[in-house]
Amino acid sequence: MPKTAKQPQPKNPILPTRQPTLPPAARSRVALGLTAAAARGRLALQVCLDCGAVQYPPREVCRACLSHRLVWGPQDGRGELTTETVLRNAQELFFRERLPWRVGIVRLDAGVNVVAYIHASVGPAQCRVRVEAALDRAGQAALVAVPEQGRHSLSEDPQLREMTCDPRLRKALVTDGKSALGQAVVRALAAAGADLIWIGEAEPWKKDSGVAALRELPRAAIVPLDVTDGRSVRNLAGEIGGKVDIVVNTADFHRTFSITSRRGVETAQREMDVNYFGLLRLAQEFAPALKSRAADGATGATAWVNVLSIFALSNYPPHGTYSASKAAAFSLSQALRAELRPAGVRVINLFPGPIDDEWDQLERPPKLSPAAVATAIVEALKGSVEDVYPGDVAKDWLARHLDNPKALEHELGEGGQ
Ligand SMILES: [Zn+2]
Repeated sequence: MPKTAKQPQPKNPILPTRQPTLPPAARSRVALGLTAAAARGRLALQVCLDCGAVQYPPREVCRACLSHRLVWGPQDGRGELTTETVLRNAQELFFRERLPWRVGIVRLDAGVNVVAYIHASVGPAQCRVRVEAALDRAGQAALVAVPEQGRHSLSEDPQLREMTCDPRLRKALVTDGKSALGQAVVRALAAAGADLIWIGEAEPWKKDSGVAALRELPRAAIVPLDVTDGRSVRNLAGEIGGKVDIVVNTADFHRTFSITSRRGVETAQREMDVNYFGLLRLAQEFAPALKSRAADGATGATAWVNVLSIFALSNYPPHGTYSASKAAAFSLSQALRAELRPAGVRVINLFPGPIDDEWDQLERPPKLSPAAVATAIVEALKGSVEDVYPGDVAKDWLARHLDNPKALEHELGEGGQ
């Protein structure tokens, strides 16, 4: 039976910090298609456009007909666990530190054999399973066999929990507790069993923000944090940077206007100051501390979450300057991800569609509630993904973006959503 996580022992401050060990990360370029799908929580395998064969492991040509015309097709991952073993020896230090590992061979219904980690709730071979693609701590795809029926969280398995950033028993910082979204995120983290939640509050003398209601939550602490003020960010990082396991950056400044509807750049500067420079200030002050604590095992830092916008993928002209600030933040988040990956800290980006707030008033439904975005954040932390597109609008935009980014740009430019 899966064991539930226990409260980790605090780190002994006298012991030196260890370097993190990571699973082997080198993959061929052709194999990165598997990782790209896993980053969105999908299993995809190469499919031959000429003969229809599905193949694994990834190769340059089709194993059946040698065609080069291969595409990454979504798979349901269903199959039979045909054989299993328990690894008790390993060449790689990462695996050696975590032995024993239960692995097996799954014969997918699609006709290929894959080697997968086996979730603790899967019965002995042979049995029906479903193979999922997850991201390991090195940010690469790993295949995991879970029971065919029902939902199974990776964090229910003590070893696979390391592929997740489950907020249970972890300490999190939510950078803006004044917004409806920030408050929803705080409540969702509390409901998910977070050990402690720091709630950033800018301009605390303005009392009508709803932060006061959060004071009643157990294990929550309101701290001064203004992401537009470097000193404020530095002071907080000095105080709690060494303890934060998960940073959730909810700070957001959004005004609805197009380029020609307004004069001056002050509002656009404010959007950049919060959405882009705010992320940069947070990253400069908090990322070094997260990196240094990534090897602390169960008490280590695990994740950095950015709430971006689907407008970061392609500019939506009625929200032109806001889209630009989110695109800048998206680009910066990719740099942050690359810098934190060697430490095993995962950067998760959310790309929600229009949220039900005052600055998306003119958008047509469906709009996302702040609670739905908060739920998506907690699910992403409990799972093993990098990119999340909550809501139907975001998923639709993503599909159109992947299909033809130029066509999407034209459609948005003509006011079509
Ligand atoms: Zn073929």
